[in-house]
Amino acid sequence: MQPPAEPSFRQSVDLMFNRAARLMDLPPGLEEKIRVCNSTYTVRFGVRLRGAIHTFTGYRSVHSEHMEPVKGGIRYAPSVSQDEVEALAALMTYKCALVEVPYGGSKGGLCLDPRAWDEHELEQITRRFAYELIKRDLINPSQNVPAPDMGTGEREMAWIADQYARMHTTDINARACVTGKPLNSGGIAGRVEATGRGVQYALREFFRHPEDVTRARLSGGLEGKRVIVQGLGNVGYHAAKFLAAEDGAVIVGIAERDGGLWSDQGLDVEAIHHWLRAHGGVAGCPVGTFVADGSSLLEEACDILIPAALEGVIHLGNAHRVQAPLILEAANGPVTAGADEVLRQKGTVIIPDLYANAGGVTVSYFEWVKNLSHIRFGRMQRRQEEARHELLVTELERLSANKLLGWSLSPDFKERYLKGADELELVRSGLDDTMRIAYQSMREVWHGHETVGDLRTAAYLVAIDRVAKSYRAKGL
Ligand code: NAD
Repeated sequence: MQPPAEPSFRQSVDLMFNRAARLMDLPPGLEEKIRVCNSTYTVRFGVRLRGAIHTFTGYRSVHSEHMEPVKGGIRYAPSVSQDEVEALAALMTYKCALVEVPYGGSKGGLCLDPRAWDEHELEQITRRFAYELIKRDLINPSQNVPAPDMGTGEREMAWIADQYARMHTTDINARACVTGKPLNSGGIAGRVEATGRGVQYALREFFRHPEDVTRARLSGGLEGKRVIVQGLGNVGYHAAKFLAAEDGAVIVGIAERDGGLWSDQGLDVEAIHHWLRAHGGVAGCPVGTFVADGSSLLEEACDILIPAALEGVIHLGNAHRVQAPLILEAANGPVTAGADEVLRQKGTVIIPDLYANAGGVTVSYFEWVKNLSHIRFGRMQRRQEEARHELLVTELERLSANKLLGWSLSPDFKERYLKGADELELVRSGLDDTMRIAYQSMREVWHGHETVGDLRTAAYLVAIDRVAKSYRAKGL
């Protein structure tokens, strides 16, 4: 049966925005100014490949320039459209405001299936797309800074950074034109895992609040919680891996584009990830039980459902069958506005995309700051920190040896305490702090106002208020 007709992705985001904006007292006209997308640039360019000229269509949309640069990933997928890019750009504005990273919202996309082209061809296409955006300042360290998204990763970001450097040979900040680069091209430790790591930190923070956990009809901590993940790409893989390995969650289901895998005892995420990389799908994977209709796993019983693939997967056609009491939106827009309504009425708690997947842009912000400061985090203070710790430990050891203390140091204390934080630890600490604070700002609104019944509305309220203040400060 055809699912009932639903608004487009962009309309869906606008509907969610409107629901929150109705609860606010914004000056006339400001609501619309914040909601609308400022501009979308469409480019069609040709690349000579396989003996013929192939024409590609790409977009870069700028939703809000209340802060600059604007920021947002570049997606490679056949389904990329203006509507989708504008919806994603809008989400970036609200996301950045919510997690307090000083950017406006943007997003880009190229209509192509990256699996249909080899590496060399993809490089030619990426460089040409980047050229078109760079010459219009739609890629620029102070104006517009892309990052990876679906279908793109470190490799594409390195090509973009190099293309920018070739076109701006004297720009000392050239590397800050794009984030999500490999470490050897100006990237930062922990960026690849950042969005999945942010998902883990978001869930940890949720489970620190028993009142919120009860609202989701759950109890206890993350340990032993049964989790289903859709999409084992960058975000889904890291989230599943960390939740299983570090928090004791049980990944019972993984849905991919060609089917799903299920095991009541928990799936071996690493083995599935290896299989997926080698075979391009999960069919034939000897882990768990294969389920031909992967999307049916969204409806299976579990504690936490994590859609981490693409938008619109929970819609009016399946929302009433979704059993999970807690959904964490690791993908952007996985729940349509209509499905959101159905789920809210069922009492499902949704940790919304603009918060849940903000780990990526948060660590991108750290990378951008690193590029602009031209120094690795921790380089100046690490050894000094270690020296000060050593002073303390040596003194404690002396007191202990002279029987001046009634206790002694535990065996691994010295080693752990002496080690100064490296870049990865600092990045994780900054990300953890960001995810905790942003969650607390949302839940304060969620619990503090009777009219706010859900975390998504709370997230939008916090974000819109911050963007509005920014516009007002500018005198608009
Ligand atoms: P990715 O390309 O690395 O992975 C996407 C995965 O989803 C792939 O394994 C793909 O096979 C799978 N998939 C595609 N269609 C599917 C379907 N119909 N059913 C099940 N699986 C399907 O992409 P990603 O970077 O992990 O992004 C995933 C989502 O997270 C997107 O919505 C993206 O906008 C969002 N996001 C990504 C980042 C980031 O840092 N990469 C940051 C924030 C948000």
